[in-house]
Amino acid sequence: MSKKTRKFIFIIGGVMSGVGKGVTAASIGAILRSKGFSATALKADPYVNVDAGTMNPVEHGEVFVTDDGDETDQDMGNYERFLEIDLDSNNYMTTGRVYQAVIENERSMKYKGRCVQVVPHIPEEIIRRIRASAEKQDADFTIVEIGGTVGEYENILFLEAARMMKLKNPGDVASVLVSYLPVPAHIGEMKTKPTQHAARTLNSAGIQADMIVARGPHELDKPRREKLAVFCGVDKDYCISAPDVDSIYKIPVKMDAQDVGNKLLKVLGVAARKSNLTPWKNLIKKINDGKKTVKIAVVGKYFGTGQFTLADSYISVIEAVKHGAWANSVKVEMDWVDSEEFEKSPAKLKNLKKYNGVIVPGGFGTRGVEGIIKAIQFARENKIPYFGLCYGMQLASIEFVRNVLGKKQAHTVEVDENTKEPVIHINPNQAKNVRANRYGGTMRLGAYDCILRKDTKTIKAYGLDQISERHRHRYEFNNDYREAMDKAGLQVVGINPESDLVEIVELKNHPFFVGVQFHPEFKSRPMRPHPLFKEFVKACSK
Ligand code: GLN
Repeated sequence: MSKKTRKFIFIIGGVMSGVGKGVTAASIGAILRSKGFSATALKADPYVNVDAGTMNPVEHGEVFVTDDGDETDQDMGNYERFLEIDLDSNNYMTTGRVYQAVIENERSMKYKGRCVQVVPHIPEEIIRRIRASAEKQDADFTIVEIGGTVGEYENILFLEAARMMKLKNPGDVASVLVSYLPVPAHIGEMKTKPTQHAARTLNSAGIQADMIVARGPHELDKPRREKLAVFCGVDKDYCISAPDVDSIYKIPVKMDAQDVGNKLLKVLGVAARKSNLTPWKNLIKKINDGKKTVKIAVVGKYFGTGQFTLADSYISVIEAVKHGAWANSVKVEMDWVDSEEFEKSPAKLKNLKKYNGVIVPGGFGTRGVEGIIKAIQFARENKIPYFGLCYGMQLASIEFVRNVLGKKQAHTVEVDENTKEPVIHINPNQAKNVRANRYGGTMRLGAYDCILRKDTKTIKAYGLDQISERHRHRYEFNNDYREAMDKAGLQVVGINPESDLVEIVELKNHPFFVGVQFHPEFKSRPMRPHPLFKEFVKACSK
């Protein structure tokens, strides 16, 4: 395809959020890539926050960090996992970011004294960003997911951008409505009416859907398909059945079976091509294959809002564990274990014995920390495989200094500002940010290099002596404790060459006890499981 004719596919939600726009966007991208096109994906998040870093993960889900240190929406993780490319800040925007740019332009007279208006200047800035992302990735197809659902005030300017792009280049823009078809229990029948309303609301924003992805508990049957076609003005072959599945990685194959890729190519005036989803089909085999089940406890403070949100806040960790499991031909079960329970009754610690491994994921703040430290001690002493991610590495170091080096006051200054033994401290630049309430985008963010120590499990797992991983933290290991801790057995096996910061610790004489200051979960892909997750699950399955 000529570089000049870039194509854009907007993914828009109908009826309610949380039905799988992100996975739909990612799956369409995967299908187009399997046809030999280059495709990228971009998320337009309606929030006024400049990035997701300042959003509550319990409400908004995981903060996904890119190589270039952008704090973005969890859907970006799905794009990376399905498209198998690294994205950057060009692939993410929020309402706040768009307005910030327009206001900065206005302040520097970029609009040459004209009145700056919500329309057209805001959608124009949105379009500029969408096009920049397409250029940056040199993408034939750019899939733009608009957050939220049609009919909200919040995302109307993103829809306006889609409308304006289509008006200018009608052949280059397609719109996919991802909508939900409920089956009310007392009726027992799939209802199309909410989706009809969504399609019409989309019409009133000046957009006609080219395709409807019909999400729901069941397959879309013939009568429902015909209804959608008539009432939403979408060809019935372009009403795609997308029932719930047990693994999101089955969706590209399911969608390809309905020829979603070629149908979109037709809308966009591009000749059909064969898809090659063999790697996806092989992955599905692996997912189904595992015989043995490995049980893993994820220990942290309990958010108290139910499994659903918890899972959303740690979506990349969950996916990375699964990737590691499939690479070891095992199935995996993860339980959320509330660390505060261990504070109330330490006797409950022995319940951890029924698990094959313990993960302490990233986190912030004071609540549940003492319970987490107890759980880490239990895993260390009972030789249960342990994997600490970010806070999980910091707290493992504190546990070791307390209980092995005997410095009972060891702590992180995040919890105890005046601790006598600041094993985890804050560097002066970060302290300055906190003092000035400069929280947004100021943590140690994004990809940093790390040199690995020879003769360690870590270097063996990676098969490399230098790696790069993504970070998101404000506090860090205090090098005053390095030598003593290392000598006593919690070895420092990964160091950032520029800053000399400790990136990885690994315990000697333990089946697997590794803590990492970074977030390896962000770089794990179903087809390319992260080496440390793979090794961790391997140790768990022994
Ligand atoms: N709270 C710790 C810090 O800011 C760890 C952060 C994390 O786990 N992402 O350094």
